[in-house]
Amino acid sequence: MVVTRFAPSPTGELHLGHAYAALYAQHLAKEESGKCLLRFEDIDHTRVREEYYQQIEDDLTWLGIEWETPVLKQRDRLPAYEDALRTLQQLEVVYPCFCTRKEIEAELAAINNAPHGSEGPLYPGTCRNLSPTERAERIASGESHCWRLDADAAIAKTGPLLFEDKIWGQVGVDTSLLGDVVLARKDIATSYHLAVIVDDAFQDITDVTRGEDLLPSTHIHRILQELLGLPEPIYHHHRLILDENGQRLAKRDQSKTLRLLRENGKNASEIRDFLLDPR
Ligand code: GLU
Repeated sequence: MVVTRFAPSPTGELHLGHAYAALYAQHLAKEESGKCLLRFEDIDHTRVREEYYQQIEDDLTWLGIEWETPVLKQRDRLPAYEDALRTLQQLEVVYPCFCTRKEIEAELAAINNAPHGSEGPLYPGTCRNLSPTERAERIASGESHCWRLDADAAIAKTGPLLFEDKIWGQVGVDTSLLGDVVLARKDIATSYHLAVIVDDAFQDITDVTRGEDLLPSTHIHRILQELLGLPEPIYHHHRLILDENGQRLAKRDQSKTLRLLRENGKNASEIRDFLLDPR
């Protein structure tokens, strides 16, 4: 059975871009007589606001989206992410990184031709080559650290990987897009990348539907799935809804929130028709 999910973060109001993602996930599930789940990606407690949980559910209901209960909240799943991190530590494909943001910036500024990926400069690998003794000593002394994927070590273990995307075709995994990403932040002990693959597997998601802005992340997700022995879903990285200037909608752009559209008298079927119109 096809199982899709809509996975908003309760850090702001839903806008038209979220509405499209939710409708897309529901549409695919309905077409295949499957189900669409709702998951709150709420690990970042520095940005989550309690009132958005209810508001998101209200907006989705207004839009005509249905989901099964109980709804998964990632903040309840921290032990599962810790287990996954432990496995990656045992496989020696992650390393502790003690760098501050400032140190990384200084390091990048000092390198000629600092490595760039799809989203800007990559972490220059400063902590990748620390000795096991130094790592252990710095952790024991209480120095704060995150955990990064050693992308090259990981792909050396998995061998070359592909993923199947219904829109983009067969895509070869490229570790240079994001580099040694953070898998467990200093302050929250996990990250989007780790939580999303653990939960997609936990919820038996067969089809991951999401905006094409997340395509680079999928390269990391495939590596993690392979290392952790998790099933590989089918991907659908769909178009983004753009504003009048051709820019993607962002949370800080308040003009297209579903709440405002509703308050301005738009009805949900107008929004649905607008978004699902293939033109
Ligand atoms: N939480 C992400 C977002 O709000 C979705 C992540 C995903 O679908 O993998 O864009």
